[in-house]
Amino acid sequence: MSLEDCPLCHSTGAEVLAEFPPRRVVRCRVCRLGYLSPRLSAEEMLEHYRTGDYYESSEGSGYSSYLAQERSLRLTFRLLLRKLARQGHTGGRLLEIGCGYGYFLTEARGLFSSLTATDYSPGALEQASKTGATVYLGGLESVPSEATYDTAVMLQVLEHLYDPLDFLTRLRSRLRPGGCLAVAVPNLASPLRLLLGRRWPSYKIPEHVAYYDRATLKRALQQAGFSNVQGVFYPEFFPLGLLAEKFKLRLPGWLARQILWVPTTSVACVARA
Ligand SMILES: [Zn+2]
Repeated sequence: MSLEDCPLCHSTGAEVLAEFPPRRVVRCRVCRLGYLSPRLSAEEMLEHYRTGDYYESSEGSGYSSYLAQERSLRLTFRLLLRKLARQGHTGGRLLEIGCGYGYFLTEARGLFSSLTATDYSPGALEQASKTGATVYLGGLESVPSEATYDTAVMLQVLEHLYDPLDFLTRLRSRLRPGGCLAVAVPNLASPLRLLLGRRWPSYKIPEHVAYYDRATLKRALQQAGFSNVQGVFYPEFFPLGLLAEKFKLRLPGWLARQILWVPTTSVACVARA
């Protein structure tokens, strides 16, 4: 697999969106997906996730730390679950790919007949297992192949994947016919990206290798064989302290802990297997 072409359509024609020497984020001229070029090798990337400092990096001592975002993430997940419930996508067997510390699972407890989840970080997975979910270290291949699910969620995961079509196709085969997939990704079309340029928080180099907007996300799901692909409201909240940190500002603790809804940061879709 080339580490420089478009992860979705594999063409090489692209315009530069942002420079992060020796890498750059570019946009495919054919399918409009944004992507990192060149990427780390898949092996180097896996090692990066396995070492356990992905969720709590050295810069993560303040509000950029994943743990500090628990309250705001759980609020986002609660509102997404309310949507899924209204559309009849709760109640069955849930599979979450890339569960992190298990905040979505915590909110999903009691809404599904069973919870299953995967993650590449052993530390995060240990935390997630406390929700009572059955957890597997690794990706989709770590989930026993005979198991099928009614609902799958991938929240802020697809942008990490080197071969999204292959993955989504394999994930679809693990859902019962008519089962639901909910996917959320950072939104390349967010006005925040245009405003902040290369300081846009979702430019996570080298982890984020693909950058979607609503159109490219829908197309990827359709190409992987999903039907009824529809946008779903995904309100994302952040601690004010985290946003201030991006601008090198320090706020008093009480203010930094306040949660702010930042519209258009992410884009999400639900689809039927
Ligand atoms: Zn492309």
